[in-house]
Amino acid sequence: MTPEEFRVAGHALVDWIADHRTRIPDLPVQATTRPGEVAAALPAHAPETPEVFEAVLADLDRVVVPGITQTQHPAFFGWFPSNASLASVLGDFASSGVAALGITWQSAPALTEVEEVVTDWLRDLTGLSPAWKGAIHDTASTACLVALLAARERASDYSESRGGLQAEPAPLVVYTSPHAHSSVAKAALLAGFGKDNLRLVDVDPATYAMRPEALATAMADDAAAGRRPAAVVAAVGTTGTTATDPVGAIVDAARVHGAWVHVDAAMAGSALLLPECRHLVDGVEGADSLSWNPHKWMGTILDCSLLYVRDVEHLVRVMSTNPSYLRSAADGEVTQYKDWGVPLGRRFRALKLWFHLRLDGVEAIRARLRRDLANAQWLAEQVRAEPGWRVLAPVDLQTVCLRHEPTGPDGGPLTAQALDEHTLAWAAAVNDSGAAFVTPSLLDGRWMVRVSIGAEATERADVAALWDLLRRASAPPGR
Ligand SMILES: *Cc1c(COP(=O)(O)O)cnc(C)c1O
Repeated sequence: MTPEEFRVAGHALVDWIADHRTRIPDLPVQATTRPGEVAAALPAHAPETPEVFEAVLADLDRVVVPGITQTQHPAFFGWFPSNASLASVLGDFASSGVAALGITWQSAPALTEVEEVVTDWLRDLTGLSPAWKGAIHDTASTACLVALLAARERASDYSESRGGLQAEPAPLVVYTSPHAHSSVAKAALLAGFGKDNLRLVDVDPATYAMRPEALATAMADDAAAGRRPAAVVAAVGTTGTTATDPVGAIVDAARVHGAWVHVDAAMAGSALLLPECRHLVDGVEGADSLSWNPHKWMGTILDCSLLYVRDVEHLVRVMSTNPSYLRSAADGEVTQYKDWGVPLGRRFRALKLWFHLRLDGVEAIRARLRRDLANAQWLAEQVRAEPGWRVLAPVDLQTVCLRHEPTGPDGGPLTAQALDEHTLAWAAAVNDSGAAFVTPSLLDGRWMVRVSIGAEATERADVAALWDLLRRASAPPGR
């Protein structure tokens, strides 16, 4: 494709994206394709000769759009907000267009230095002190893996330079909440700690936040048994209920054993843009690493996860490699992001953050987050006031965990099994209707429904329409 051909096709694609975004409210929220249907709509073999751009574009409508759950839809209340502001889409487009090779500072000084500046901007905007330095990773899963590798090497005094974990005399132990995201356990396993050395610490039954006394006891028990408490992953904004583990008390407990504290605020980190929400990470200055995803609620298009650390020198010592072909005269003066994580080659992800912040402005982003927090409080009030409905967890952020608990045929409560069936049935009815999308999830062994508010397009009227839909979907037939 020549630049002139690109110009024509590119304009058509931008028009297509703008039209697509405009019509999203009219699309079903949930993907409508059955398993295998998308693959079956494609030819079995790649084309030998070029096709025309119009044919490719037409297949976006025909094949791709029906196969996407529309997270930008105003009635998307599933998993977590996965916003993709159009300003950030432009930045992503520009990143592809400049096609920088981010392997060293020298290969693209602008890639490194824009990333340094925007991660500093966001550090300051979220109230972290200048002691933190950040880098952009693909996802919070990767950020957690990097944090646990750094923790492992600190606890083992750089075992990687000897026989690795396999030669360590005492097992290293990782602690997290049973409500932590599945990526935390995955990172602990991949970092070599082993399932036997992953402790799920008790939580408070009302708030679902980790109990720091239980953490202190678990760590002391491990230490007494000759094991080494190496890391704690505190969840700020758990996946199920957006519970907040108490970072300050966790830091205090971890310090006794020299354990690393990683704060996983993948979803909730966006709220730190609001000064009134910074209490969520009280004590964070005593932690070692923190990650959050602008690609969730804040709305910089996936993939954009920030990992901040306080001890960059340690991280670089764990991650660095220095083959001759990557050395340059500037090495002593510059940041080499290849030594801050796993990949060598990095995309120019900072551009989408830079575009997003510059074109939307922080003030508008903050106003949107506050709108979503208020909408969640509003919905929780409606649910609490409605007979037969319950809010099941504190509504500290934008997620409302709820359940409809009707009486059974005998006038008493439904059996646990009947209640689960009822919940799953009405949630499926909501999602299959295409009018809205919510996520059923287990809490204390029972199904409930998470309403995660915060799509960029979601206004109060959309939340009110959802509340009507939930009541209709859960009502017995004929009522
Ligand atoms: C979404 C989420 C993750 C995983 O995020 P990815 O960027 O998709 O890896 C991890 N932890 C929490 C608390 C989350 O909400």
